[in-house]
Amino acid sequence: MKAVVVKGRMDYSVVADAANPTAAPGRAVLSISYASLCYRDLLELMGYYPRMRYPVVLGHEAVGVVEESMDPRYRPGDRVVPMLYEPDGTCDMCLRGEEVYCRSRRSYGEDVDGFFAERAAVAANALVKVPTWVNDELAVLVPCVIAMIYKGLRRASLSQGETVLVTGAGGGVGIHAVQLAKAMGARVIGVTSREDKAGAVAKYADEVVIGSKFGDEVKKRAGEVDVVVENVGTPTLGESLRSLRMGGRLVLIGNVKPDEAYELRLGYAIMKDIAVIGNVAANRGDIWRTFELMRVKTIEPIVTKYSLEEFEAALDQLRRGDKVGKILLKP
Ligand SMILES: [Zn+2]
Ligand SMILES: [Zn+2]
Repeated sequence: MKAVVVKGRMDYSVVADAANPTAAPGRAVLSISYASLCYRDLLELMGYYPRMRYPVVLGHEAVGVVEESMDPRYRPGDRVVPMLYEPDGTCDMCLRGEEVYCRSRRSYGEDVDGFFAERAAVAANALVKVPTWVNDELAVLVPCVIAMIYKGLRRASLSQGETVLVTGAGGGVGIHAVQLAKAMGARVIGVTSREDKAGAVAKYADEVVIGSKFGDEVKKRAGEVDVVVENVGTPTLGESLRSLRMGGRLVLIGNVKPDEAYELRLGYAIMKDIAVIGNVAANRGDIWRTFELMRVKTIEPIVTKYSLEEFEAALDQLRRGDKVGKILLKP
């Protein structure tokens, strides 16, 4: 089958003869309908993830159809999304419903083959069935993007009517974070450094602020904000902190400059009573709750599609960051 196989740091190719995955007890084989490209894929290719085992099929975001199942919970024809990880389902973290913290989790596209392929073998423990009201283009964005943001906003105890600032609002995560925060009842301010993306952000956000020094403009238009969804990282963190009210919550999601440190003055964080929330990925419960929210609230998938053979062009687009939304790969 076709797959994007990684053999080492920045050593990858689209091959036509990758081995077909097979089912095993507790596992299923999916036919991948769409996979989507994530900044994490780029960082994995660049060697930032120490648990990469080579060779590995890249990719951790997918929606697919069960072809073969050796787990009684799933049958051929079921439409499912996998989490980014496969949990064992038995450790103390799994029993708490925090599968993302599973003591013996394995990560797709990292230490177990991922989804930039025609087919993938997955743990039944990692799957969530996709409801009829969510189409494939939207479903593929749920585990790593929309439900991940949902988990961050849940942990930030977002309540109705609060103001959420989203940085990198024209990006793949950002444009969906804006829509999700709106769906959860917030007033949303989208910040983008790119003027060409402001129109798309304005379609969903209550206010759009353009530029990297956004703190003053945000204050002028919206006062201080309750929650920041930080999709960029060190380049915007200072202005994000400045925009927060006392007792505000900072949800850290993006890290576009992984080698750069940010010096946080503790006095500032303490005296402002800021909650800093690192946020990595969604649990199955968050994915299910996000699907339930989509039953009553519309979230539009903003995507550009490529074929699996066009992986290099898709990766170039990710690096350039010149289009609004996420990049999908169709096997
Ligand atoms: Zn991802
Ligand atoms: Zn576990």
